[in-house]
Amino acid sequence: MRYLILSDLHANWEALEAVARDAAGRYDRALCCGDLVGYGADPNAVVEWVRANCSIVVRGNHDKACTGQDDLEWFNPVARAAAIWTQTHLTPENADWTRALPQGPIVEGGFQVLHGSPFDEDEYVLAPEEAGQAFEYLEYRLAFFGHTHVQGGFIWNHARVETILCAHGGGDPQDMEIDPECAYLINPGSVGQPRDGDPRSAYALYDSDSHVVSYCRSSYDVSRAQKKIRDSGLPPILADRLSLGR
Ligand code: ZN
Repeated sequence: MRYLILSDLHANWEALEAVARDAAGRYDRALCCGDLVGYGADPNAVVEWVRANCSIVVRGNHDKACTGQDDLEWFNPVARAAAIWTQTHLTPENADWTRALPQGPIVEGGFQVLHGSPFDEDEYVLAPEEAGQAFEYLEYRLAFFGHTHVQGGFIWNHARVETILCAHGGGDPQDMEIDPECAYLINPGSVGQPRDGDPRSAYALYDSDSHVVSYCRSSYDVSRAQKKIRDSGLPPILADRLSLGR
């Protein structure tokens, strides 16, 4: 089975459209690690694409906040403003569907799909120490997660936990063979708001027959997504950061 793994789409339709175009024909099933909405100006188009194309979707913290399930006090002012904007722009049908998304981890074909950490969907796994704790909670040796918007993830090899470093801006995709002796927390990166210094949209492909994970990037029309954010009344910084990948 060939999987397309998406995370942190954040209502960026131009980015998702580019990924869908580039990945077309290269996967059998699409999965999503959460945060479909929040920050971007196209929550309905993104939710409708995921509804139609992803067979497994777990919720992210922004999916909760943008559908009234989370206390916005925990959000910074920009994220809070975007969540309130999204609450007023999601159609009732798309809001109901997003509100009903399950909490991860979810098991699929020998691996797990989750948003933040296996023990707390809102927890950030950014460093090897945090990943070391997260590995203790995994039920499988392979899991896909998001939340940090940083493509890569972590490998557990019995002795220690190592960060998977993706070279940004270079030739894509970067392939990594899964060693059955190790355990993996794989972050496909963020489709709609990358924060690893590469403004291109990030995603991953996983072939469960050849045991290869491919880290991919797609260029997209950043200026069009930025214009929509500025025209919509969302905080302008959400547009600015897209061209930085920060
Ligand atoms: Zn996110």
